[in-house]
Amino acid sequence: DDFILKPLEFKLFMVRINSCIERYWLKRELMEKNAKLFELAIRDGFTGLYNRDYFSHACKKRGREFIRTKQPLSFVLLDIDYFKNVNDTYGHLKGDYVLKEVAEILKRETKDTDFICRWGGEEFIVMLLDTELQAATAFAEKIRKFIRQHTFKNMKPVTASFGVTQWRENDIEESVFKRLDNSLYLAKLTGRDKVVSNEEVELNYKGNPVRIEWGPFFRCGQKQLDEDHHKLIALSNEIIKICFQAEGESQTTLLFERLVEEISDHFKREEELLQAAGYENYAEHKRIHENLRKEISLVMKKFNSGGIMPEVAARYLIQEIVLGHIIKKDFDFFHLFQGV
Ligand code: GH3
Ligand code: MG
Ligand code: MG
Repeated sequence: DDFILKPLEFKLFMVRINSCIERYWLKRELMEKNAKLFELAIRDGFTGLYNRDYFSHACKKRGREFIRTKQPLSFVLLDIDYFKNVNDTYGHLKGDYVLKEVAEILKRETKDTDFICRWGGEEFIVMLLDTELQAATAFAEKIRKFIRQHTFKNMKPVTASFGVTQWRENDIEESVFKRLDNSLYLAKLTGRDKVVSNEEVELNYKGNPVRIEWGPFFRCGQKQLDEDHHKLIALSNEIIKICFQAEGESQTTLLFERLVEEISDHFKREEELLQAAGYENYAEHKRIHENLRKEISLVMKKFNSGGIMPEVAARYLIQEIVLGHIIKKDFDFFHLFQGV
């Protein structure tokens, strides 16, 4: 009868049990509250998608994992086209409705492992795990079609532009977002309602020659360089227009020669201005120009001997040289002239 509790002991025992139960419930309540707070902290209240801070955190984490596992990791950034017009035409409530519908399309079309975030006002970003660039581009193309085909009640169709890229060996979060953002801008500046992957513009998009729109995106704030870059883009547009017409062939050669000359003059002027401005990476930039000059003359030699088609030469000159050199290299010195 050692095991039989005496009345006093029993009372104490019950007090202990009760306080244990109470502590358990308090702890549970606290955990639930914490989970709710956590959800509030990581989500955009309006669409229920992840918010920017949490996305950024998840992206860094996945980036570190990539180094270990080498599992492909891709990103799709999308921005609704002319959304300001949507608000101005139909009012902000209708604008909000469009945002919610787009968020729903994204939720519907993604897998559980995909990570959707409201990046800003009318910008969304999706992180696709275990996905290569090509599949990510196809995914973006699918979403693009779903949005433009979606019926927004009592409204005209809405479209969106997309930038796509894949995490690369030496990437950090910033370099991935730079590529994504540049790609999205190029989609905007070459017609909107389209997908651009890895900063590469298709000159003949779905059978139509594109036109590259000049905008603040390309402006560095130095008058001469902006004039030069503007001229190169205008000349590129002429080439694109002519290049994809059957009868344009004879003019292409002349235009190519003009473009190559303009590029060469521009490189010279740019080098002088950068040296005068004391640009810290002047020597490297000059070296890059030299390499580009060599590549250009190789490509032109091939073109002149009939070894490559005008479209191929145009793609190289416009994508790699005109756009490529501004976006991938010149952007690095824009701060010199923008007072940043
Ligand atoms: P683009 O095709 O170049 O992207 O043009 P845009 O008009 O879409 O781009 P812009 O950045 O000029 O305008 C974005 C607009 O989105 C401005 C802002 O008022 C609106 N916006 C941002 N967040 C919200 C929101 O939560 N609700 C509504 N209704 N509008 C929003
Ligand atoms: Mg927009
Ligand atoms: Mg330049």
